[in-house]
Amino acid sequence: MKGMKMKVSKKALAVPPSATMAVTSRAKELIAQGVDVLSFAAGEPDFDTPDFIKQAAIDAINAGRTKYTATPGIIELRTAISEKLKADNGLDYPPTQIIVNIGAKHSVYESMQAVLDEGDEVILPCPYWVTYPEAIKLAGATPVIVETDPANGYKITPEQLKAAITDRTAMFLLNSPSNPGGFTYTPDELKALAAVLEGTDVMVLSDEIYEKLVYDDTKFISFASISEDAYNRTLTINGLSKAFAMTGWRLGYTAGPAEPIAAMARLQSHMTQNPVTFAQVAAITALKDTTGAVEKMRVEFEKRGKRMHQRLNAIDGITCPKPTGAFYCFPDVSAHYGKTIGGVEISDSMAFAKTLLEQAKVAVVPGSPFGCPNNVRLSFACSLEQIENGLDRIEKWLNS
Ligand code: PMP
Repeated sequence: MKGMKMKVSKKALAVPPSATMAVTSRAKELIAQGVDVLSFAAGEPDFDTPDFIKQAAIDAINAGRTKYTATPGIIELRTAISEKLKADNGLDYPPTQIIVNIGAKHSVYESMQAVLDEGDEVILPCPYWVTYPEAIKLAGATPVIVETDPANGYKITPEQLKAAITDRTAMFLLNSPSNPGGFTYTPDELKALAAVLEGTDVMVLSDEIYEKLVYDDTKFISFASISEDAYNRTLTINGLSKAFAMTGWRLGYTAGPAEPIAAMARLQSHMTQNPVTFAQVAAITALKDTTGAVEKMRVEFEKRGKRMHQRLNAIDGITCPKPTGAFYCFPDVSAHYGKTIGGVEISDSMAFAKTLLEQAKVAVVPGSPFGCPNNVRLSFACSLEQIENGLDRIEKWLNS
């Protein structure tokens, strides 16, 4: 009997396969074959979740916290988030203006589904995290990509923001510190961007997931804390994945004006319901971190980031801006494009990453899916020893 041809939606067909996955799955394949690959592809801390958080989840399971909760999350967690936002960010969000989501990726997706319409434009500075353009398009809106200048630290200027605004602009997407480059906007830069938005109807989606991971004298501030005007137009997104080494727990949250948060809760009630109950309970303990675990990890990341940045810049034909946050270096390697290494032409960032992996057994992520074909991304969420060995390999490969 002839089987039916299963249909796939136009929406799903329009989502391209993840371009970053091509290199990372090949790296996994090689590792499974026993090849000694040094991977700088990870988008998550190499640290394990701190024990006191794990214990809180185990206790919660044993206490029977294993049932559905209210859609936006348990009130105790939303209260803890409200207190965190006040203490760390100077933001007043009552628990009713906070929704807990299943990771910050879900916060991004769901908030866009809740506030964007067909035909809306979203201003997206480039380089951008690969998920943003897809989430914008899945909400029916159009990403308006603004190329930033490496000389301005890959950050959008107030002039560029102003020039990108049209009468269809619904949202400006801000990610500081950023993935893929750890670029962090200074308070003055944020103030200047906020000033451009005054008097417009443009919302801001501020993804602050890397907030706790800033280095040297970099100061993080929340966009919504700039002014009352900024507060009123901003959805603040954050989560526990990066700061607390809790990527697998899937806990993110969104805080903002009551209406969009209520709209997100309506969508969430039919899509996923609440985030995992015992993970929510453990998150309360995590947010109250009395052990200094987050700071210990931050200090380690800072050492590693410094070393990786130093080593990259010491290589001929590589220029790497200093990561001021997150755990990524995003060097420009385009001076090597056009060269032939080991018989393969390095034509672009994809060829660079693929050939580096095949020939030198080092995995990096190509920059083109982030909108930056001149660059590649290396995560420093790995040991200093791996950084030294990996950079030795890259240096030797480029000189071969
Ligand atoms: N925002 C940015 C900028 C990220 O890099 C990530 C993780 N790669 C996320 C959000 C999502 O994090 P999670 O869903 O684990 O909370």
